[in-house]
Amino acid sequence: MGKALRVRLFDTERREELSLEPVDGKTYRFYCCGPTVYGPAHIGNFRTFVMQDVLRRALELGGLKTKHVRNITDVDDKTIRDSVAAGQTLEDFTTQWREQFHADCEALGCLKPHIEPSAVKHIPEQITMIEELIEKGHAYASDDGSVYFKISSYEGYGKLSRLDTRELDLGKTQNERANTDEYDKDNAADFVLWKGRREEDGANFWESPWGQGRPGWHLECSAMIRKYLGDTFDLHSGGVDLIFPHHDNEIAQSKCSCGGDFAKHWFHITHLRVDGAKMSKSKGNLYTLSDLAEKGHSAMEVRYVLLSGHYKKPINFTLDSLHAAQEALGKLAKAADGRSAPNYRETLKSQNYGVFSSAIEKLNDDMNTAGALGELFGNLKSIESGEDWHGFFAVLAALGLTLPELTAAEVPAEIAELAAKRWDARQAKDWAASDQLRDELAAKGWVIKDGTEGYEVVPS
Ligand code: AMP
Ligand code: ZN
Repeated sequence: MGKALRVRLFDTERREELSLEPVDGKTYRFYCCGPTVYGPAHIGNFRTFVMQDVLRRALELGGLKTKHVRNITDVDDKTIRDSVAAGQTLEDFTTQWREQFHADCEALGCLKPHIEPSAVKHIPEQITMIEELIEKGHAYASDDGSVYFKISSYEGYGKLSRLDTRELDLGKTQNERANTDEYDKDNAADFVLWKGRREEDGANFWESPWGQGRPGWHLECSAMIRKYLGDTFDLHSGGVDLIFPHHDNEIAQSKCSCGGDFAKHWFHITHLRVDGAKMSKSKGNLYTLSDLAEKGHSAMEVRYVLLSGHYKKPINFTLDSLHAAQEALGKLAKAADGRSAPNYRETLKSQNYGVFSSAIEKLNDDMNTAGALGELFGNLKSIESGEDWHGFFAVLAALGLTLPELTAAEVPAEIAELAAKRWDARQAKDWAASDQLRDELAAKGWVIKDGTEGYEVVPS
């Protein structure tokens, strides 16, 4: 067999595609900023998590072992604000949303990360990091019991996002400093590592050398990365909104406290949009998996839509795209013709993909999932050998797609609707409409079998 297939991926920091090789020569170790568990994750968030899942699958298909760490943000401005408003403890409040997140990930076919650390369970590690930063002159305590990172103390600050240093206002007074977790480039200033206790935080405070308070959001990832991946690791990932300030702040905290190279590669996923705007909770333009399930769409259809565009380009989400996904998955299921997919581990055993080699190549070339889907469909008619079938299922496994079973119970919503209309037309003895709907269904690959009491619709 030839050389193992390697994934090439664009690196946000160096602005070029690089081949992914593990630093330690054995296991590819990567970290993904996880969900903030203060409500259901929306399908925009899942664009990022699904792409990270596909990256892991592509690496494993290429013969690499992986170590995937993804945190849970369960202590920050938003989780505290909303748990207090809900009259729940932070733990009860975040537990329900963490569980919902896990159920959604499972429905979407995402592999579980190997380690999923919780921020609130790593407060001592975060305090230790702050102590080191103060000791090394990179952080200072202020009168309000908060601790700030001094960005002027780190020459490389803002390198990832190419923040123009002239934009930095190093002379900001304490009240203008970035005490909130989120801010934009124009407001770059010393950022908060530890927030002094505030009344509105309720019972959510911890003891520290600087008094009672809680960690700032950016710190948790640095502290947990250090614990689970060390000071140099392979790749770090999140949505593009995290490049600044979150990831630039992580780099500053980690390099100044631990030394090391921190992440060797940065993988950022472009946003899912709705009507031209980023899908986000604050804009209220979001869809969750359960919103879409109510409209009759499965999580796999959502996954398909999320894979249908290149991660470097925005995807504009529409309900029509879900209908198209439903059809596409149906077409693949029809091609599989009752063959069931081997289990994931089995798929990793051979790298001979027959006519589907081109699909795997697309994926390995900067995670071109849309291109891989194109090659998958383009080669369906050429399947002949066992190797081709292995390739077919390997592409599905790499993309994390499972195929629907085409039983009567799983007739797509659109088809069921047409069939119902046709039945009504027939009952009304409107034969012209009934025939037209029957033809429309036939064109979409479905046949109606009429009985005395009702009908059944089956794939043709
Ligand atoms: P959060 O729960 O807000 O911390 O976000 C979890 C992940 O989703 C982060 O990596 C974000 O960058 C990412 N994200 C947020 N909104 C979107 C979106 N509309 N499209 C893609 N990724 C997003
Ligand atoms: Zn992070």
